[in-house]
Amino acid sequence: MNIHEYQGKEILAQNGVAVPKGIVAFTVPEAIQAAEMLGGNSWVVKAQIHAGGRGKAGGVKVAKTKEEVSKYAESILGSTLITHQTGPEGKKVKRLLVEEGCQIIKEYYIGIVVDRATSRIVLMGSEEGGTEIEEIAEKQPEKIFKEVIDPILGLTPFQARRLAFSIRIPNKQINKAVPFMIGLYEVFVEKDCSIAEINPLVLTEGGEILALDAKLNFDSNALYRHKDVVAYRDFEEEDTKEIEASKYDLSYISLNGTIGCMVNGAGLAMATMDIIKHYGGEPANFLDVGGGATPQKVTEAFKIILSDQHVKGIFVNIFGGIMKCDIIAEGIVEAAKQVSLEVPLVVRLEGTNVDLGKKILLESKMDIITAESMADGAQKIVSLVQRKGEEK
Ligand code: GDP
Ligand code: MN
Repeated sequence: MNIHEYQGKEILAQNGVAVPKGIVAFTVPEAIQAAEMLGGNSWVVKAQIHAGGRGKAGGVKVAKTKEEVSKYAESILGSTLITHQTGPEGKKVKRLLVEEGCQIIKEYYIGIVVDRATSRIVLMGSEEGGTEIEEIAEKQPEKIFKEVIDPILGLTPFQARRLAFSIRIPNKQINKAVPFMIGLYEVFVEKDCSIAEINPLVLTEGGEILALDAKLNFDSNALYRHKDVVAYRDFEEEDTKEIEASKYDLSYISLNGTIGCMVNGAGLAMATMDIIKHYGGEPANFLDVGGGATPQKVTEAFKIILSDQHVKGIFVNIFGGIMKCDIIAEGIVEAAKQVSLEVPLVVRLEGTNVDLGKKILLESKMDIITAESMADGAQKIVSLVQRKGEEK
């Protein structure tokens, strides 16, 4: 799960990690009020969207007067920002962060991720802050330093100091950079983050070390133990089909093809997508209805698949193990009735009570095509969708 920059900074501040003072604003008057409350003589008006690259896209503006705060707030709020992370359709800005301005001496990069190669949490740093880390990794990999963290010891002061020296934080600021990094690591572990990225971390004229940007991502599987994090969720930033799916505990990811897939188990879902492609089709989604696929879940899954305008056919590929095939078949029939299905539906069932399941599908007198195997089903749905395409 992703959250906004200002929310990430709230979490950091609560845990003693230094961030600039800032206030969220939903309207232009709120932005002006925020600047008044912050005081000082410069402010930064920042678009809050679930994507990076805002600076380059015009979503981050430094204002020298309250009139400028108003002017920038007016132009950014409600505009659509297109950054390298939003895709070509961009993202509409609905919230702003108004922050006290600061005089930047130098920008650094600090990030914490879970590294699959070492099976450890890794702290990364670079003196090339402000730019995308992917670009530094490609062009100047020698400028990225890493500390692999032992889960028992945690991030030790020695490691934090070594990284701070490697990225050439001035000696005078090392005693600020070390608690900053340790605090960030503690947030990462405490909140079950999957990414904590500070780009840029800045050294200011006043000698402070501050997180000027904050990107925190959380492991969805751990959200049940973080009510405070869940409260930060902004549904308006997420794919509507994916939100619907998560309400019913369905793992759903939209893709660009025309064949809607309903499968149980992530492995079988992957195999189903592969075989559809093998026979010349393109999956419209990845959908795992999970082990305990109830008729209600199946119905909701159908609705979500059909809400995608690109879907020209559906392939149900379910292995009835814990869940029996006859129950699944009843669910499919019920769902097909409820959603008034207008595209071809191919069903392949295997497992417990498979014959009974097939009988239910057949006796439903509905337009459901049954398949004998995964390959048979994939071939059938691909040719049905292709034939439909040619008729037009
Ligand atoms: P991103 O482009 O989405 O990653 O947004 P950032 O929060 O990283 O902001 C982009 C850039 O704006 C930063 O790299 C800074 O150079 C600049 N910036 C952000 N806050 C301030 C500030 O308080 N003062 C100044 N002078 N520049 C800032
Ligand atoms: Mn940034």
